Amino acid sequence: MFRAKIRDKEMPMGGLGIRRIHAAVDRIIHDRFYSGRAMASGPDRSGLAIDDLASVPALCVVAHPDDEIIGTGLLLTRLPAATIAIVTDGAPRDGRAAAHAAGFASDRDYRQARENEAVAALALTGNPSLSLIHFVVPDQKAIFNAASVTLRLMDVIRRGHFRYVITHSYEGGHPDHDAAALAVHAACLLLQANAFAAPIIVEMTSYHLLNGKMAYGRFLPHDKAGPVKTFLLDTREQALKRRMFACHQSQDRILENFPVDAERFRAAPPYDFLAAPHAGQLAYESYLWKIDGAAWRRAATRALNRLGLLKGR
Ligand SMILES: [Zn+2]
Repeated sequence: MFRAKIRDKEMPMGGLGIRRIHAAVDRIIHDRFYSGRAMASGPDRSGLAIDDLASVPALCVVAHPDDEIIGTGLLLTRLPAATIAIVTDGAPRDGRAAAHAAGFASDRDYRQARENEAVAALALTGNPSLSLIHFVVPDQKAIFNAASVTLRLMDVIRRGHFRYVITHSYEGGHPDHDAAALAVHAACLLLQANAFAAPIIVEMTSYHLLNGKMAYGRFLPHDKAGPVKTFLLDTREQALKRRMFACHQSQDRILENFPVDAERFRAAPPYDFLAAPHAGQLAYESYLWKIDGAAWRRAATRALNRLGLLKGR
């Protein structure tokens, strides 16, 4: 049932000093080459109804093994057919800190465990019409691989017959979530530019920071997003979703934050990925990771430029 793995090369790592120098140089180069540029915009589908979401084939593009269960665990039990593309392997290359914290000896063991967890959780959907693609980009590095992820997604979309492509919102929750959203929007923009009837982009919920508090399972408000379609889970479905969560044993402390009583979807608004998703601190900027919003947007600019999706100067 699960097939097709595409391996990606890893990004090199550096020490803190090197990182600061790299960030400063990155800013200078970015300002020199990209100041005044804007992102090409796509069709505005705000207000679009997605009432047939559960009854037509879909592509689900998520950043990490477990996001597909968080956002679409119940929906995947109902869809007549779905392909799930998981962009990263869920294992940060951070000197094995994340692997050790999750109880694994190496990054390799950690990413293998996360892959196995995803397969086990998806098996619980009982849906024989699911297929799974791992892009295997290192965790937290999706935006640096966004152009190649976009091209791969274009190929997946071209070969499938999807009415919808479901992905994350651009909400500053996790840099990989935002990168998955960018790649989906970029892929659909490029396909439309080539007269291909690209699927409609639908958002699922993940998490973000709102007014200083983490919000799980809710959308960041956006005035151009479609109306929210909510699937309420009954007692049996909530129990099933908890069992799916339990398959992702390495993520148990994170998953306990997510509600299991509902899954929410909306037609995606058009985004300007060169602007911050919201004012103030982004969720991932509070984690002291190697990337902040400004660095993410510089990397996004380069990816969009490579894809021919920047305009003006
Ligand atoms: Zn995630």
